[in-house]
This record gives sequence, structure tokens and C-alpha cells, in this order.
Amino acid sequence: MTSGKTFRALLTALALLFPLTALSLVGGGTADAAVAARTVYYDASGSQEFKAAVDEGAAAWNAAVHKVQLKPATGGQASVKILADDGWPRTYQNGFGRGTVYMGREAVNEGFYPPRIAAHELGHILGLPDNRNGRCDYLMSGHSSPTSCKTTAPHSTEAAQVERNAGGSLAVLAQRELTFVF
Ligand SMILES: [Zn+2]
Repeated sequence: MTSGKTFRALLTALALLFPLTALSLVGGGTADAAVAARTVYYDASGSQEFKAAVDEGAAAWNAAVHKVQLKPATGGQASVKILADDGWPRTYQNGFGRGTVYMGREAVNEGFYPPRIAAHELGHILGLPDNRNGRCDYLMSGHSSPTSCKTTAPHSTEAAQVERNAGGSLAVLAQRELTFVF
């Protein structure tokens, strides 16, 4: 697990460099604020044993926000790809509603709840940064919350931020890939 921990530390360091940039970028867009709900399609066909967990995480977001909805798809329709591997869970985000999520088994093996991991990573896809406040009622607290935490619903402030992000331009974040971890 040493290499995994090192990798996690590296990703955490990278994530620390970029969240403020992400926030400032997603906060600015208002041009499309009046449009109806956006649909973000995700392809979980490569998520192996985590497919149900991914669907549960997506459903939690769909219940909490209105301007964007996450729906399963396969192939070219999907702008989000969900995969599984033995590393630490992480998201490579290429703009609002776009990116690749790895449902890493390392956190599952440490006891974290897979649907919560999925909801957290989808939060990154929807433009949220990490927020290591240790609280179970925040999805973006990630691994700073206890492994006993099984909450999949976003905090109201997280949902509100996603609603604001969904009102911005889909392309505004696409200039640089952002890396986040659970
Ligand atoms: Zn994260």
C-alpha cells in the first residue's frame, strides 16, 4: 500500500494547486443560466463491480439538483467515463460534466462506502473541489469523513454550487484537465 499512499499524496498535492482556479472559473458563467436542465451522460460499463454504486451516486445527485441530471449511457454519447482499478479513487475532470472517474478499490478496501465514493467523484465531474472538513453530511469531505459514513446525498451548499455551475458555460473549464481524489 506504500505506492498507493504515495500516489494519493501526490494527487492530493495536485488537487490543492487547482481548486481555487476551478471555483473562480465555474463561478463566472451566467450566459446560459436560463436554459433547462442539462443532461450529463455517464458510461459506467467499465466500472466492473461498482456499476450499482455509480448509479446510486448519480441518483443522489439527481434528487438534489434540477439544472443538471446524470443519466447512464454507453459509447460516444457519454461525456463521463467511469472505470475501476486497484488505486485510490480519483477524477480527471475536463470541464463541467466531462471527465474520467476511477472507482479505486484501495479506498473500498479501507472501508469507505462505494456509493459515497461514486457520489463524491461525480461531484468533481459537476465542478466541485475537495472540502476536507471531516463531515459526513458533505460529499466533498471525501476520505476526511469516517469510513462509517454512508451518506450519498450532497450537502445543500454543495447542491447549490452545482446548480450555479450548471448555469455556466459547459466549455469554461475545458482548458485544462483537473485532477481530484476521494
Ligand atoms: Zn475528491
